[in-house]
Amino acid sequence: MKRPLILFSIVLAAMRVFALGGEDFGGVKLKGRLGARLDSMIERQVAAIDVDYITSPFLAKTEKKFWWQTEFWGKWMHSAVPYANYSKSAKLNDAIDYSVERILSSQEPSGYIGNYPQELRCSEGWDVWGMKYTMMGLIHYYDYRKSTKPEKAKLALDACKRLCEYLIAEIGPQGRRGVELWKTGNWSGYASSSVLEPVMWLYYRTSEKKYLDFATYIVKGMIEPEEGPRLVDLALKGIGVSARNRYGRKDNPSNAWSYVCKYGRRKAYEMMSCYQGLIEYAQTVKNRPELIEAALFSARDIVKNELNIAGGCASSEEWFGGATKQHLPYLRLQETCVTTTWMRFCQKLLEITDDPKWADEIEKTFYNAYLGSLRKDGTEFASYTPLSGSRYHGMHHCYMHTDCCNANGPRGFLCFMKNVCRNDGKSATFNFYASALVDGFEMYSLYPAANFVRIVSRTKGPFKVRLRVPSWSEKTSIRVNGQTVNASPGSYAVIEREWELGDIIEVNFDLRVKSHTLAGNIAFTRGPVALARDNRLGDGDVSEVFRTASLSPKVLESFAQVVPPSDDIWMAFSAVLPVGMNHANPDGKFSSQVMFCDYASAGGLWQRSNYYRVWFPVERR
Ligand SMILES: [Zn+2]
Repeated sequence: MKRPLILFSIVLAAMRVFALGGEDFGGVKLKGRLGARLDSMIERQVAAIDVDYITSPFLAKTEKKFWWQTEFWGKWMHSAVPYANYSKSAKLNDAIDYSVERILSSQEPSGYIGNYPQELRCSEGWDVWGMKYTMMGLIHYYDYRKSTKPEKAKLALDACKRLCEYLIAEIGPQGRRGVELWKTGNWSGYASSSVLEPVMWLYYRTSEKKYLDFATYIVKGMIEPEEGPRLVDLALKGIGVSARNRYGRKDNPSNAWSYVCKYGRRKAYEMMSCYQGLIEYAQTVKNRPELIEAALFSARDIVKNELNIAGGCASSEEWFGGATKQHLPYLRLQETCVTTTWMRFCQKLLEITDDPKWADEIEKTFYNAYLGSLRKDGTEFASYTPLSGSRYHGMHHCYMHTDCCNANGPRGFLCFMKNVCRNDGKSATFNFYASALVDGFEMYSLYPAANFVRIVSRTKGPFKVRLRVPSWSEKTSIRVNGQTVNASPGSYAVIEREWELGDIIEVNFDLRVKSHTLAGNIAFTRGPVALARDNRLGDGDVSEVFRTASLSPKVLESFAQVVPPSDDIWMAFSAVLPVGMNHANPDGKFSSQVMFCDYASAGGLWQRSNYYRVWFPVERR
């Protein structure tokens, strides 16, 4: 009976070899509504990029205002490579090759790739940050082409090595600029220090000790200087992410934006990017458990004190204790860069802990804050997506017709795709449920609109399957060919058996709507999906107050799923609830019909006239 498994494993191994590097989706092909959204994002945004436009700053080298034009190409490469593998798009394939030719042609004899003039390099602004993304882009290209175009791949890796050596020579130990890396750039050293992640990637691919030594130097700067990022000791002291801002500063901090931008410690995206690198480093050196402990503390703090009901976080891109303020109209909520980086951070934590709570977090953020920021036609991402209001285009950055969030947005979908089903040849772990083909199985579902998932085996022989049982699903039923399997919330249900072709796993989740209250306000979730009222649903004033009676019970049975009024809206629900300020209607004796949709569909027209709301005031007495 071993032979079928061995054959299956060989097939899987072969599939990995031919995955051509980059982020491997484990053979996942996404279908249905989600698959269509992904396909349109790849075609209309990732493959539609103007390569000349995003690479021209590298050739012009005219930056004088300390901006970040050089981050756009590397971020694009991070998603372009896996989506080229996934979509087999010839257009995207050609764009990747052409873009790398342009980047390589811009490299100076010193190794520098960027757009800052000589005197301004490796100092203030975003030069080192830009080099970080350029290193990432070159490494993605190396992985992409090392099997099919090994000479081109080697050129890219060599360019990345020379760029890293330039950084070492300039701002490494005893660097010629006489300034330590953490002192350059913005946010107390977060931005420059986050170069640690691609430095580790470079070390993995070269095994050259000088890169690991450089990483050790960067880590030292991240944790030791009193006025530096202090990513470890502040976490181990139990100081939450929003309370670290001015900790340990000797001077008298001013509130001037330039001061905050240079020395602040609350910038969400940059802080989490540093923890990504710290985890990579800790996994390699193996004797620094405190680095992982600090990352885990910070992530748990974000879950407890920063995340909102849509899985988004940050106001004006900074931590602000947002969990208890999410009913209020804070400025610039849940930047898409933060949303994407939070999902990447959770993905890393899922990999190192195997704790499905991190998959719970990715799922919540993905179905709400993330998909809510992606325009329905796939062409762009919003920069900020409020919990109440309307959606709109992002700002243009650095006088370019793009911005950080459009560059980062497509990377977010990778976190979902990479974890739909992780198959290591011995076991398959299903973290997310969708209509999809995966290695060895077919998955049929309208989840999360529907609660039912059917997984059909295309595997023969002994094999372990693990199914994530979400923590929100209080009553989950799992059956294999009709036989019940144990399933408890917040864990993996394990099925170990001799599989036959056509064996069927059936899963039913508990998608009953729950209410949540905060400071005299109420909101609703259904499984991983936050619900919103949207004025397109035509049921009156979406800011109506709820009567006190609506606060209980926590699980609400009165919500019925209904056909959405248009294809713009994925899921729609009707509920009979006590709303309105009619004082002749005490305690909601005469209830009204209220309509909801999924948060990601709310405001989907991207017009001021299409408004929505997630938190609703409750009548005061
Ligand atoms: Zn952004």
